[in-house]
Amino acid sequence: MSILHTKYLNSHTPMMQQYLKLKAQHPDILLFYRMGDFYELFYDDAKRASQLLDISLTKRSASVGEPIPMAGVPYHAVENYLAKLVALGESVAICEQIGDPLTMKGPVERSIVRIVTPGTLSDEALLNERQDNLLAALWQESHGFGYATLDITSGRFLVSEPANREAMVAELQRTNPAELLYPETLQDMTLLTHHRVLRRRPQWEFDIDTARQQLILQFGTRDLTGFGIERAQLALRAAGCLLQYVKDTQRTSLPHIRTITLERQQDSIVMDAATRRNLELTKNLSGGGENTLANVLDRTVTPMGSRMLKRWLHMPSRDIIILTDRQQSIHALQNHVAELQPLLRHVGDLERALARLALRSARPRDLARMRYAFTQFPTIKELLCGRSEPHLLQLLNRIGEFKMLRDLLTKAIIEVPPLLVRDGGVIAPGYHAELDKWRDLAGGATDYLDRLELREREKTGLETLKIGFNAVHGYFIQLSRAQSHLAPIHYVRRQTLKNAERYIIPELKEYEDQVLTSKSKALMLEKMLYNELFDLLLPHLAALQQSAAALAELDVLSNLAERAETLHYVCPTLNARSGIHISSGRHPVVEYVLNEPFIANSLMLSNTRRMLIITGPNMGGKSTYMRQIALIVLMAYIGSFVPAEQATIGPIDRIFTRLGAADDLASGRSTFMVEMTETANILHNATCQSLVLIDEIGRGTSTYDGLSLAWACSENLARIKAMTLFATHYAELTTLPKQIDGVFNVHLDAVEHDDTIAFMHSVQEGAASKSYGLLVAALAGVPREVIKRARQKLRELEASSIDVLASSVGDCYLSVPQPEAKPVTPACKVLKNLDPDSLSPRQALEWLYKLKKML
Ligand code: ADP
Repeated sequence: MSILHTKYLNSHTPMMQQYLKLKAQHPDILLFYRMGDFYELFYDDAKRASQLLDISLTKRSASVGEPIPMAGVPYHAVENYLAKLVALGESVAICEQIGDPLTMKGPVERSIVRIVTPGTLSDEALLNERQDNLLAALWQESHGFGYATLDITSGRFLVSEPANREAMVAELQRTNPAELLYPETLQDMTLLTHHRVLRRRPQWEFDIDTARQQLILQFGTRDLTGFGIERAQLALRAAGCLLQYVKDTQRTSLPHIRTITLERQQDSIVMDAATRRNLELTKNLSGGGENTLANVLDRTVTPMGSRMLKRWLHMPSRDIIILTDRQQSIHALQNHVAELQPLLRHVGDLERALARLALRSARPRDLARMRYAFTQFPTIKELLCGRSEPHLLQLLNRIGEFKMLRDLLTKAIIEVPPLLVRDGGVIAPGYHAELDKWRDLAGGATDYLDRLELREREKTGLETLKIGFNAVHGYFIQLSRAQSHLAPIHYVRRQTLKNAERYIIPELKEYEDQVLTSKSKALMLEKMLYNELFDLLLPHLAALQQSAAALAELDVLSNLAERAETLHYVCPTLNARSGIHISSGRHPVVEYVLNEPFIANSLMLSNTRRMLIITGPNMGGKSTYMRQIALIVLMAYIGSFVPAEQATIGPIDRIFTRLGAADDLASGRSTFMVEMTETANILHNATCQSLVLIDEIGRGTSTYDGLSLAWACSENLARIKAMTLFATHYAELTTLPKQIDGVFNVHLDAVEHDDTIAFMHSVQEGAASKSYGLLVAALAGVPREVIKRARQKLRELEASSIDVLASSVGDCYLSVPQPEAKPVTPACKVLKNLDPDSLSPRQALEWLYKLKKML
C-alpha cells in the first residue's frame, strides 16, 4: 500500500478504514457492507446504487474532510435489491459481520462472504426456473477456441473446442451465457457483441498449469485423464479461468461439481448461429418465447425437466442408441403419463434445491421440498416397475430410495417451514431435547408464571393482581387502578394505564432475562442444528443428483409421450441409409397456432433425389415447408415423435438454413453481407449428410449478380450432394434439373381467380408456372393504381426482356431471356444501362473500348 494511501486511510474512522480495505479488493463491483440491520454502500457505489435501485443517497460525516456519500438497503429485503441489480448485469460483493460485536474492540470483524454475479446465481428468487443460467469462459488462439460453461445450479461443467469463429459464435448463441469471461488479450472482440454481461479477466487466469491444478483439486483426482480432456488445452484454459472465478465468487466448497465433460462436435447435429435463430427453437425471431418449438413441445411438469428438454432441442444427438432408447421409453410411457406426471410435479426442482444444498445455502423450504420429493420416489418406481424397456429400467435404477433422509427431514423440519432459518421456527419439536428446553423457557411455557401469580396474590391479598406480558415492556404484575395504592413497596412501576398500574419485581425481571437468553440460545442452537442437517445430507449428494437427473429425464420423456399422443405425432424410423422420407408432414408450430386446417406435405429425398428447387408465390408456404422439414428432422434427432403420418430419416450431420436475413447492425453488416456470410458458411461446411435449407440467395444485389450467385451456389451444393431444399423466385433455376442429376423441381400451388389468388399450400412436383407477385402485392393492400401501373410495366418488361430493371417490380419472376424472347447480346444490355449524360469523356471512351471488346 502506498504512503499516500496509508495516509488517506488513517484520516478515516477505523470502520471506514476497514471498509476501504475491503473495497480495494473489489474496485469494479458494488460492495454491500453490513452494518446492523442494513447493507450500506459508500462513495461512488452509493451514487450508482441510488440510481440503479432508486434509493435515497445520504451522507455520513467523515472524521476529516468531506462527508461520505452513502446509501443503504435493509438486510431483510436484500434479495429484492440483488434481483434488480443482477437483472441489470451488476455483480455485488456481500460483506457480513463475522465477529461478535460485544466481545470485539474496534469495528466488528467483517469479510466478504460471497459475490453475487449474474452467471453464478443459485438463489431461487433470482433465477428463471425454466431456463438454464450459465457462466461461460472463452479462450482464443490462432488455431481455434476453448470454451467452458458451468451451470452452478446443477454442477454441469462442459467444455468444447470450436474450430473456427463460426463454430464459436454458434456455441455462444446455443449456450447463451448469463455472464461471459474473456481474456484481456482476446483478439476478436466482435465475438462479444451480443453479450451483455462481460468480465475481462487477466491472462494468467487462463494459464494451462493453473487450470490443470485447479481442476485436479476440484475433482480430487490425480490427473485429468479420466475425463478425457487431458489434451484439450484450449478448453482446459477456459475451464481453469471459469473455475477460479466461481470459487472466488462462492467462497465455499462446490461438492456438486464433480466432473467435466468434453463435448465433441461430431456427437450432435451441428447448427450454426443463424440456423438456430431461424428455426425458432426456444426463442422466436423477436426474442420472445411464443410460437417456438419449445412452446409447443414443453409441457414438462418440473422446471428441471423443462430445462433439460430445451438443452436437447439445442443439441440433437447423433447417437442412434440414445435415440432408440428415448423412442422406446416414450412408447412405454404413453400408458402411464396421466399417473406419472402428477407424481413428477411433486418432485419439483430437485436439481436446484440440491445445488443450494451443496453450496450450503439451501433454504428451509428446499429441505421441505426434498422431503416431499423423496416421498414420491417409491410410488414412481412402483408405477413403472412392470416395464421392461432397458432405458426406463436404467432410469428407475438411478432413482434412490432415501428413506433414511426422508425420515430425518420429517423429524427435523416442521411441516410448513418459514422462508428463512434466520428467525427460527424451522426445526421441529421433539427433534432435539435441548432445543425443546430452551424453546419452552423462551416461550414461557412453564407453570412458573401461574405459580408466581398465585403466590403474589395470596401474599398481597389483592384479588385483581395478574401477571402479563407485552412486547414493548416485557413481563409485568398488573393491579387495577382501585387497588394500586395497596401495591407493596418493592413493586417498581413499569407502566400506567387508564384502569391499571403495571409493576415489575426483581424475581420477575430475572425470569424475563432468562426467557430472553433462552430465545437467543434456542435460535443459535437451531441454526447449528440446521447446518448439521447439511452435514447429514451432503454425503448423499452424488446419489441425490443422480436421482434428480433421472427424474428430469423421466419428466422430459413422459412429456414427449404426452405431446405425441395429444398432437398426433408418430415415431420416426432412424436408419443408416441416407435420405429423408416424410409422408404428410406438418409444421409443429404453424399447425399449432393456425386456426385453419394445416395442409400436410410430403418429402422424398434420397441418393438419387438430393436437391429440390422450390418455386411458388409469396405466401404460398415455401418457407413453412422448408422449416417443417428441418424441425421434423431435429425432433427426430432428440428422440421425439414427429408431426407426420410416417417418417424415415437417414444420418444427418448438420442442419443449415439460409432463411430471411436482417441487417446485423451490431457487427456492421448489411443484409446482403449477412446473407453471403451465411451462404459462405454453408458452402464451406456442408457435406453429403447435411440438410441445407435456402430461401433465396442474392436478392440484395443486382438481378444478374443475384441470379448468377444463386445458380452457382445450387450447382455447388449439388456437387457436394448435400440434401438441399432451395426456394427461389428465379425461374431460371428451374432449368437446373435438366442439367444436373439429382435435382428436381417442386412448387407450391396457388389458384388465380378474379384478379385475386388462393394459396393451396400443397407441394406439387414440377416448377411453378408463374410468380403471382402482383396479386400478392394487391392482397397486401398495395394501392390499386400502383398495381395497375406495375402490371403495365411488367408487360413492357416482358416484351422487351429488360430484366435488369425487373427487381423493382416486386416478386415477378426475374427472367433472363426466355426461349421465346429475342436474344439480347451482353453488349446491348450494357448499352441499355449506360446513361451517356452521366459519363465523363474519358469514361465514355473507356466504355467504347469495352463494348468493342465484348462484340
Ligand atoms: P412463403 O415462404 O412461400 O412466402 P410461408 O411459408 O411464409 O410462405 O407461408 C405463408 C403463410 O401461409 C403461413 O404463415 C401460414 O399461415 C400459411 N401456410 C403455409 N403453409 C401452410 C400449410 N401447409 N397449411 C396451411 N397453411 C399454411
